[in-house]
Amino acid sequence: VWVDFVKFFNHIIDRFEMTKERQVTFRRLLPNHTIYVEIDEDKLTQVIDNIISNAMKYSPEGGQVTFRIQEFHGEIEVSISDQGIGIPKDNIEKVFERFYRVDRARTRQLGGTGLGLAIAKEMIGAHGGKIWARSLEGKGTTILFTLPYDPLQEDDWL
Ligand code: ATP
Ligand code: MG
Repeated sequence: VWVDFVKFFNHIIDRFEMTKERQVTFRRLLPNHTIYVEIDEDKLTQVIDNIISNAMKYSPEGGQVTFRIQEFHGEIEVSISDQGIGIPKDNIEKVFERFYRVDRARTRQLGGTGLGLAIAKEMIGAHGGKIWARSLEGKGTTILFTLPYDPLQEDDWL
């Protein structure tokens, strides 16, 4: 299905913003025009829900979570950044493996199975995109993913 990704992303962020229980500020760096992409909304909702849940889970009280969409040739890049504990350099690719969780001790009380990002990788791959992470321990984490985007296709809809 063709979906305006900006609107779709805003809806998900709104849902988290309305239900959040912690002092975390949201910052949206999103285009103010439509970007039509062909996606499975249920699957992408699951992917984004997990990334935002992780960002909230590992954010400090008073932290900021930043949402961004950037347009490049042939694709959009979506990113979600937090100012949380970060992921050690050696583990940055492993977090996309099934059941992998950095440091059992710190994550035990936060719950989860370690499947969220593995599922995200599978689903983003199925959409023709890529997903990866950037992180600095103690500073924060950014999860980024791309989705193919053909601006010419969009002209047909105008
Ligand atoms: P689930 O998503 O299945 O409930 P989970 O959140 O532990 O469990 P993933 O979402 O796959 O699993 O994340 C894997 C691991 O990567 C987490 O356990 C955590 O150690 C680390 N991680 C993921 N996102 C962040 C983040 N924003 N900041 C710090 N660590 C993170
Ligand atoms: Mg998770």
